Amino acid sequence: MSTIAAISTGQAAGGIGVVRISGENALSVADRIFKTVSGIKLEKLSGYKAAFGKVFFEEKCVDEAVALVFKAPKSYTGEDVVEISCHGGLLVTKQVLRAALANGAVPAEAGEFTKRAFLNGKMDLTRAESVMNIISAKSEQAKSAALNTLDGALYKKISEISLSLKKIAAQMAAWVDYPDEEIDDLSDDKLKETLLTAKAELEKLIKSFDVGKIIIEGVETAIVGKPNVGKSTLMNLLSGCEKSIVTSVAGTTRDIVEETVTLGNNVLRLADTAGLHDTEDTVEKIGVDRTRQKLDRASLVLAVFDSSTEVDDEDMEIIKMCNGKNAVAIINKTDLNTKFNAEKINKNFENVVYLSAKDRNGIQELENAIEKVLGTADFDTSAATLMNERQLACCTAALQSIDEAISALEIGMTRDALNVNIDVAVESLDTLTGEKATESVVNEIFSQFCVGK
Ligand code: GDP
Repeated sequence: MSTIAAISTGQAAGGIGVVRISGENALSVADRIFKTVSGIKLEKLSGYKAAFGKVFFEEKCVDEAVALVFKAPKSYTGEDVVEISCHGGLLVTKQVLRAALANGAVPAEAGEFTKRAFLNGKMDLTRAESVMNIISAKSEQAKSAALNTLDGALYKKISEISLSLKKIAAQMAAWVDYPDEEIDDLSDDKLKETLLTAKAELEKLIKSFDVGKIIIEGVETAIVGKPNVGKSTLMNLLSGCEKSIVTSVAGTTRDIVEETVTLGNNVLRLADTAGLHDTEDTVEKIGVDRTRQKLDRASLVLAVFDSSTEVDDEDMEIIKMCNGKNAVAIINKTDLNTKFNAEKINKNFENVVYLSAKDRNGIQELENAIEKVLGTADFDTSAATLMNERQLACCTAALQSIDEAISALEIGMTRDALNVNIDVAVESLDTLTGEKATESVVNEIFSQFCVGK
């Protein structure tokens, strides 16, 4: 396999930048571009040793740096690895990378270091995927769930289910294939018990994905309300910066501005929207239509009302549109005199929060209400958690095959027929962990990674 190199730190100036080299020739490539102050070749160092020195490219010194040596198999990729930590300037890191590429390394593809770790048996697919989740985590809960997956919680759970199925499949196959041997057939009761346990475990995993997804990916959130109730002010308050235009002229927030904010444990993918009111203005009309679409797509709706005006038909329209959605009613402008009949809101929303976006009052109450509506407060990040749609699809396919096996058992089909369903379930689970994933599945997964990881 070729020796690969890439910049592993972010594409912005920083204190330190790391260029990672991995593969059979990692040490000799590094020795060609890195001169230690002691004069000792990196190749002569044992694993986990660091050396101070200088990086050279075309005989010119590029930077002072530290080279960290890892010897196969005790490295991230399972191969020989050298990590050169230089100063974190964009030019410097690029020059160090160029030096490595000019001296025998080839550019690493997206996720190729982690892909090699997977191919070399250093980690299964669930652990590999969790690396990306750790990098992209925007809340403590998301990071904890991802770390727990990196620690093997999901792998262990899926392997346990798969093993229980493999055991019954093997015993049934032996009983069918060697009728003369004294192999006990599994009783229908025992078989059903194993299948039902596997089914329950998978259902638990699948069910927790709804909330898990919200924690990992954030929740698509629509802030809705008629013009001038304070949607933009609220959004700016939540995001801590001025992203959308705030103005006291009704109907001026015409388009949708998107932003991701972390509120407590929840990452909200916020959309500030045009006021939800009927209008003849063409530009605004587009915004209103898009608001309706956004509301349809949103998994969380923050419906804003102005406490200093009376509840009117437009407010009632919004109340109607929130029916059946995960919604929090926000009664804004509590710093002003109230003219608002809150009963109409209380009747239609389980969660009502009073706040003043202007005075920054009531944000904690909003955070609590959102956690309650989404059910994220009680999410157990130490339990096995599905981290993405691929894993969900594998579990769903396995569950379907198990359901078919249970039906086959109930209508008295042969052990052979039963085993076909169980084999398919096992295959889905082994695809999830990567034990049996096809090359295209593996390539697809790692292509979503960033270069250098
Ligand atoms: P939007 O049209 O719903 O996005 O409303 P804006 O955020 O543009 O706010 C409209 C007006 O209401 C602006 O003048 C804001 O400063 C004002 N406003 C927003 N929130 C509050 C609040 O909590 N209290 C008071 N007194 N004014 C507010």
